[in-house]
Amino acid sequence: MVLAAIERGLYCFGFSAHAPVPFENNFALKIEDQEAYLQQTHALKEKYADKIRLFTSMEFDYITDITEDIRPRAEAMGLDYIIGSVHQVKERGKEESWFIDGGKQEVWDEGLARTFNSDARKGVEQFYLQSIEMLQKSTPDVIGHFDKIKMHNKERFFSQQDSWYKELVKTLLEEIKNQDCICEVNTRGLYKGRSDDFFPSMQWIKEAAQMGIRMTVSTDCHNVSEVDLLFDQAIEALKQSGHKYVWYFDGQWQAEKL
Ligand SMILES: [Zn+2]
Repeated sequence: MVLAAIERGLYCFGFSAHAPVPFENNFALKIEDQEAYLQQTHALKEKYADKIRLFTSMEFDYITDITEDIRPRAEAMGLDYIIGSVHQVKERGKEESWFIDGGKQEVWDEGLARTFNSDARKGVEQFYLQSIEMLQKSTPDVIGHFDKIKMHNKERFFSQQDSWYKELVKTLLEEIKNQDCICEVNTRGLYKGRSDDFFPSMQWIKEAAQMGIRMTVSTDCHNVSEVDLLFDQAIEALKQSGHKYVWYFDGQWQAEKL
């Protein structure tokens, strides 16, 4: 990944493995591998110091009742910055949860039926409520793909133009602004063909510009061929939406004029 980043001309590059979660899964770093991840990324930092600036981060999953303590965990690991995201939607005190990510629409549909009795509005409300709670309880430096809930919906169970949906996103944007959190423009859904828009959608990138919310760009890459996919388009989208700066991390958060 480091060699691919250097080859593509990047001069800052952050690792952000999915932080360990306390249940069986096939996406997160295993708790027994956490120390090796920290050691390896630090070793790479030194090895390639003359070619690229590397940073160690993780993407933390904020799950009601299960992982609400992301900031103390991140600080204990000495991470350079923290990304916080919601992938698992769960009501307080309930057993069931709805996994909204991954490559399969059937998993999304089945989870919605099992967890929220196919009441999409209730499930989506819980998704945004969790995101707001994450910002209030454990503000990450960056909020990841904040409207990923739309990915497998494809305008079937709700529309992004529904007034209740727009209200939820606006409430989240206000909290992002209140906490001065940086908002990620994530290109992965587009280059994987799972979404016809960025996360978040253009309408929210525009709204964020009007609100003065800081934005960064991420490819959410999972292999070497993806390190900078649609980077330029994301920068163009920021410009067209009225953003004057893009934020990036080079040891601290910096604004670059667009
Ligand atoms: Zn994620």
